[in-house]
Amino acid sequence: MAGERIAFVPTMGNLHGGHVSLVQAARERAQRVVVSVFVNPLQFGPNEDYAAYPRTPDEDRKLLEALKVDVLFMPEVDEMYPRGQALTARVHVPELEDILCGAFRPGHFMGVATIVTKLLNLVQPDVALFGEKDFQQLMIIRRAAEDLCMPVEIVGLPTTREPDGLAMSSRNRYLTPEQRAVAPQIFAALERARRAIESGRRDFAEIEREGMGMLEAAGFRPDYFSVRDANTLAPPSDESEELVVLTAARIGRARLIDNVRAKRPR
Ligand code: AMP
Repeated sequence: MAGERIAFVPTMGNLHGGHVSLVQAARERAQRVVVSVFVNPLQFGPNEDYAAYPRTPDEDRKLLEALKVDVLFMPEVDEMYPRGQALTARVHVPELEDILCGAFRPGHFMGVATIVTKLLNLVQPDVALFGEKDFQQLMIIRRAAEDLCMPVEIVGLPTTREPDGLAMSSRNRYLTPEQRAVAPQIFAALERARRAIESGRRDFAEIEREGMGMLEAAGFRPDYFSVRDANTLAPPSDESEELVVLTAARIGRARLIDNVRAKRPR
């Protein structure tokens, strides 16, 4: 209805507590809540888990009904890419798309920025909500929205965790019981780095090496463990006060990502 605010939560489905927290926050910000469920092929590399990505449309629909979501948008791939993926216009965010996860997943953030732009144009929400769990993704979406003058407010929300610290993720489903038992070491390694920074250490390269070592010792194959400026994602400068420690680590079939913020003492 005229005058009502619309909040939008884009997802890839297989909904969990992290998604629920976004939907609840959306409800607090608008009269109408729209959720999309779309596993976006454009953001997956050729050797990644697009085919295996967990799809649970019936459960998702039931959960969103129970949460009283007003509109569920669950398009088919052909509807989103009628010309095919190769020929579609695409959105790039220079630099930010090539670092950290972007260095290990070429084209991933182009796929994310492109689908989010398309979804925002279709839904035309007043506000769109994203998780800080995907910190680099959130930053790239903020940058695209700002640079392309999208008339939408982008809101980031804190990471929802399991009681043992593991960030909720659809990809946690890939873990065997043994892998699930060591998975909280990711958050533990990030927390150790946060405490080191907040206790005044400035040897970030050494903190990064310790994080890589802790994850390797736990049985992960970490892609990176990195201390960055939380506002730019660049390596910290002497002026950087708000930092973020980010990591991506593989175990078995899963590639898990997580991050924590750290405040550098003055
Ligand atoms: P996905 O379905 O994984 O693409 O995620 C959809 C949205 O939910 C994104 O904005 C994610 O950042 C967010 N999200 C995923 N996991 C979590 C979590 N554990 N806590 C908060 N937000 C999350």
